[in-house]
Amino acid sequence: MERTFAIIKPDGVERDLIGKILERIESNGFKIVAMKRTLLSKAQAEGFYDVHKERPFFDGMTTTMSSGPVVLLVLEKENAIADWRKLMGATNPADAEAGTIRKDFAENIERNTSHGSDAPETAAFEIAFFFSQTEIHSH
Ligand code: GDP
Repeated sequence: MERTFAIIKPDGVERDLIGKILERIESNGFKIVAMKRTLLSKAQAEGFYDVHKERPFFDGMTTTMSSGPVVLLVLEKENAIADWRKLMGATNPADAEAGTIRKDFAENIERNTSHGSDAPETAAFEIAFFFSQTEIHSH
């Protein structure tokens, strides 16, 4: 069993897509083992995306991520990291495959509706960034 970290980003919450996205998560075999609806501060968004701090889009992207409430999730499934990224689709919705969350819902590369860890090390870092062990429960 593998765990990954997911976010329904502010543009998804703003457009009332929480239910639709959770439905896709559950119907694709992921167990939601932790979940929190919250508002990230700019500093939290910057800390979370620290690997991107030298990128030209860093300031705008972290402003967007802290512009409204998000839903933070820990998902569990065999092959959860790769399978969640497949379900989300490509970073830029223009490149995303049909039937993916980003193809169906994302507005553009920055308002792209969802986040997912890209490797076991980043999943571990990202889960621990927002959740303590006592908040994560398998079922
Ligand atoms: P992800 O793992 O698919 O989310 O993509 P990355 O880790 O490469 O980038 C993190 C987030 O930064 C993406 O989800 C986008 O919202 C944003 N991002 C990535 N590339 C660009 C870009 O070229 N321009 C802007 N404005 N945002 C970007």
